[in-house]
Amino acid sequence: MLSVFDGHNDALTRDDHAQIVEGRSGGHLDLPRMRAGGVRGGIFSVFSKSPGMPEERKPVPRDDGVKEFPSAPPLDHAPAAADAAAVAGRLLALERAGHVRLARREADLDAGKEDGGPPLAVLHLEGAEAIDPALEALEFWYEAGLRSLGPVWSRSNWFGHGVPFISPSSPNVGPGLTDAGRALVRRCAELGILVDVSHLNEAGFWDLAGLEPGPIVATHSGAHAVCASSRNLTDAQLDAIGETGGLVGIVFACAFLRPDFADDADTPLELIVQHARYVADRIGVEHVALGSDYDGATIPTPLGDVAGTPRLLDALAEDGFGPDELAAIAWNNWRRVLGAWWSG
Ligand SMILES: [Zn+2]
Repeated sequence: MLSVFDGHNDALTRDDHAQIVEGRSGGHLDLPRMRAGGVRGGIFSVFSKSPGMPEERKPVPRDDGVKEFPSAPPLDHAPAAADAAAVAGRLLALERAGHVRLARREADLDAGKEDGGPPLAVLHLEGAEAIDPALEALEFWYEAGLRSLGPVWSRSNWFGHGVPFISPSSPNVGPGLTDAGRALVRRCAELGILVDVSHLNEAGFWDLAGLEPGPIVATHSGAHAVCASSRNLTDAQLDAIGETGGLVGIVFACAFLRPDFADDADTPLELIVQHARYVADRIGVEHVALGSDYDGATIPTPLGDVAGTPRLLDALAEDGFGPDELAAIAWNNWRRVLGAWWSG
């Protein structure tokens, strides 16, 4: 079975996260289902909700037919710092008990690929509200194992402005990174923490690109040309990702896959393939990877959950991706970009 690395899951932030070892009755990702799907590693997100935000959010159609999620209010530093430390602690406890291995350095990625041991987990902060603008907490988080960070989720903080969920819409909504946001990107590059652009608006994306911090990586996004959601990447953004040696973890969220934006699980697997094919044709297969958003979104029923990953690989093969290309999409591209960021 092909070893697979997945670029984004929210399993740690769900109410039933405690069942991740034994297997959860619902949701998309736990350790038994990762094994069943050949998923040997993944980026595990630490995400803190805005005040009053429900676990399941639904878009609201506007009068003009455009669908927009209610905007998420900002999250204060103190509650974010407390919550994020607790959620990250869940992953560290899994590591201490031998259920996962936290990937902290390049060599960990190779050691964990095929040795039959516990899966690899990369600790990711989705929205940096837990980090103070002086970046003192970043040093603490790095020591705790943080190796991937999105400066913003889809809301504003003192580092920048997340892209709101609007369909259809350009991602060019709102201003770019703040001075603190630029300092955060630079410091992450120095320390060896991948900076994720998936929830950044377009101005923030170009500000980050201008800093040349490393290969530009969207851990869980799609192609705007296929689904014109604000959360997806325009052709110009894809080109920049290709030019820097970066990648797109193709998201499995139905609302960002489907041209009609429907948040409907009755969505064919082939739509994920269509996004992968579009990105591969435009900038090269070496810039395509997987970034599911398991436990953070509605995903296609034909995939079901992380155990269904081999069906997606079959669908990619049917579309014409050869064995070497599949290995690149499944693992090697993630290996390359994580290694590039982590080795500075
Ligand atoms: Zn996300």
